[in-house]
Amino acid sequence: MARYLESKCKLCRREGEKLFLKGEKCFSDKCAIERRNYPPGQHGQKKGRLSDYGVQLREKQKLRRIYGLLERQFRNLYKKADKQKGITGDNLLQMLESRLDNVVFLMGFGSSRAEARQIVRHNSIRVNGIRVNTPSYLVKPGDQIELDNKAKEHIRTKSSIQIADNRGFPAWIEMDVKGMKGLYKNKPDRSDLPSTINESLVVELYSK
Ligand code: SF4
Repeated sequence: MARYLESKCKLCRREGEKLFLKGEKCFSDKCAIERRNYPPGQHGQKKGRLSDYGVQLREKQKLRRIYGLLERQFRNLYKKADKQKGITGDNLLQMLESRLDNVVFLMGFGSSRAEARQIVRHNSIRVNGIRVNTPSYLVKPGDQIELDNKAKEHIRTKSSIQIADNRGFPAWIEMDVKGMKGLYKNKPDRSDLPSTINESLVVELYSK
């Protein structure tokens, strides 16, 4: 499958905010946004006003990049969200949050969503006791997510869970840190998710 292989920090600089794509580095003073908060490239420091379309496009790119999805994957998820009952933007965010790679990241099994995705792909995750290696798998409320025994021994994983525990887990995740497993209690409410995301701009863009 196609993947984005260039510098992840450039993506944050393009969007002008931290997207937290590099694990611990994002919380250190090595973060590129702390050092050079302007878009990459020769004309990066030139200021220009974005059109309405430009604003919508940037918001969509930002959201897509936070969750590490390619355009086609993101648009397909949007179509599913649009078909569901309720507010399309809320549905979209809930589906993004329910992806297995995202839940594995929130539980601290990986220090970034990219690392969490790799852990899922490497067959290290069980959902309700069954091995699942599809990062896009949508976790349901009540699902139990657990690392397999081999992955539980990895020092990097142990340290990642410890760091996540120190920062605190989201309200919709119940973690058994010692057991290295967690419960996805419920879908997050919109108010639980960052207010820096404006999903209605994404809906406006795709509704054209
Ligand atoms: Fe973005 Fe993290 Fe790089 Fe900072 S360190 S620019 S938050 S990916």
